[in-house]
Amino acid sequence: MHSSLTNKIILSPNNSGQRTSKVTKVTIHHMAGNLSIEQCGAIFQNTARQASSNYGIGSDGRVGCYVDENCRAWTSSSNWNDQQAITIEVADNNLSTWSISDKAYSKLIELCADICRRYGITPSYDGTPNASFTEHRMFAPTSCPGEWIHARMPQIVKDVKAMMAGSKPTTNQVQGNLPDQILTVGSKVRSIGMLVEKVDVANQMIYNSVAGGWIPSKDVDEVDARDGKKDQILNVGSGFAFPHEMTVGKVDVPSDSVYINELGYWLKARCLNETKEGQ
Ligand SMILES: [Zn+2]
Repeated sequence: MHSSLTNKIILSPNNSGQRTSKVTKVTIHHMAGNLSIEQCGAIFQNTARQASSNYGIGSDGRVGCYVDENCRAWTSSSNWNDQQAITIEVADNNLSTWSISDKAYSKLIELCADICRRYGITPSYDGTPNASFTEHRMFAPTSCPGEWIHARMPQIVKDVKAMMAGSKPTTNQVQGNLPDQILTVGSKVRSIGMLVEKVDVANQMIYNSVAGGWIPSKDVDEVDARDGKKDQILNVGSGFAFPHEMTVGKVDVPSDSVYINELGYWLKARCLNETKEGQ
């Protein structure tokens, strides 16, 4: 699921798949650079970066979606936070003050209001992880979201509340044809990040229940170092993803499965994000 404010979807393989917690928080980050939503999306495509966010906002006010809202992004150095938070990276238009543009600020308020409305979140900020608006700096030695946004957190929450209370509806600014996430023959897909649940060393297979069963280890890449080492040796608990964009060849609706042409076997549709519509 993504906000109707989304202008572009550039799904990142860097995520933990389905959330294990309800969405109760919003975490605003800064890009520490003036990146477009496409540039930020390209960085999050790189599995070696082990980073992602649910959304990014460019200085032009456009919104990119990188990790589906239903999935946990890798943004705030905290599993606890990111399982509960929708995370948003915002471009800085000044690299010494870390300020953000007026267009980015307005869109940020609009996106936060949209998220809070849809998930029933009451915006609050008290400088601790207990409030609904949290910051990266609460969980790691980082200055993120930068002094400019940090100083304005109380104002941001105030502005989000005002927008939620006001009659101004969230505008639908979706441009172009976004993939609808209904997989059909010819759909282009990328896998979400998943965890290895079992390993069959003799047959070089790994098991994941989200994907729907056993998978040849050679088909996937290790995407993080949560088992201690990012070494392409998949252990139970390793994060993995199918590294390439793939094509749906057949669809079986009753079992929620799709046949992947490049792999030559079936996967559960729930482990895939549609990147381009099929027929
Ligand atoms: Zn951050």
